[in-house]
Amino acid sequence: MLVRKIGIDLGTCNTVIFVPKKGVILKEPSVVAVSIPENKILAVGQLAKEMLGRTPDTIRIYRPMRDGVIADFRVTLAMIRYFLKKTLGFFSFLKPEILIGIPAGATSTERRALIEAGLGAGAKEVFLVKEPILAALGAGIPIESYSGNMVVDIGGGTTEVAVISLGGIVTSRSIRLGGDKMDLAISEYIKKKYNLAIGEQTAEEVKIKIGTAIFEKEPLDLEIKGRDLISGLPRNIKITSNEVREAISDVLTEIIQVIKITLRETPAELSADIMEKGLVLTGGGSLLRNLPELLEKSIGIPVILAEDPMLCVAKGTGKILESLDLYKKVLMTKR
Ligand code: ADP
Ligand code: MG
Repeated sequence: MLVRKIGIDLGTCNTVIFVPKKGVILKEPSVVAVSIPENKILAVGQLAKEMLGRTPDTIRIYRPMRDGVIADFRVTLAMIRYFLKKTLGFFSFLKPEILIGIPAGATSTERRALIEAGLGAGAKEVFLVKEPILAALGAGIPIESYSGNMVVDIGGGTTEVAVISLGGIVTSRSIRLGGDKMDLAISEYIKKKYNLAIGEQTAEEVKIKIGTAIFEKEPLDLEIKGRDLISGLPRNIKITSNEVREAISDVLTEIIQVIKITLRETPAELSADIMEKGLVLTGGGSLLRNLPELLEKSIGIPVILAEDPMLCVAKGTGKILESLDLYKKVLMTKR
């Protein structure tokens, strides 16, 4: 496949790649397995994620992005290189232009590191665009209009809230908490209540399969395996969706709080627009069952779940790559 331009959503949890005229062509966990003795990359993406919690001491599993920015430069570079190679295939000798999303609050040092990683991984040129802009574009929001729009992106490690008008970010807030924190809260809840230790992947599975943001009259349930903390032996328990809601309620409260604070900081004209049109939810964390209902009830404004929320940022990169001239204003300086 002959590819000249590539959009990358380099998330803390997942990397999504968009190629103009082709669409989303790759979505894999942002995870890398490294063999410690040889200091060699063993696996990247889905394969590496499956190794989580199952590795010997000689293999380390890295999630090189933290809070939406690079935490481990070398491993991030290797990960981008791997994903680019997978995207470009035979044509990987032709250097592509890449566009990467970056948190609205990233520092100039963090931005520079990302550009260096992109160039090091084989890009001819690297453009950065603030993620809320990409999420909004990918969710189909007309960002150029003079009316206020609010986007709430709930990722693995961060939740970003932004108000956009006339193609720019008017106010934004970010907290270092998202889907991962929900998984952790579920593990802790089960440990306390059932004396059972469960793995990260099991906790995430519980959240995705039965998690709910509001109490259910007819709760779902799921049987899970863990290790009894007293006997040390494997044991099964059945957990209900209402227990999951209880476990993650503090995380949800914090998300509601940051949305409310951002609304308070929004100029009155724009918040009136948002009250009327509602806020748009993106990111994998927004797929938690009944989350829109909870937010509507506790914030008092309409909440719209974007189509394919996990792909919004990547789709946004596509919109920009398809008309780079039109969106010149949102591209961030190259170095
Ligand atoms: P990031 O941008 O940080 O890489 P994503 O937008 O890809 O994050 O979202 C990843 C998060 O979404 C993970 O915490 C994952 O467990 C969570 N997630 C994915 N699907 C669901 C679902 N159906 N219900 C609840 N959470 C989900
Ligand atoms: Mg994201």
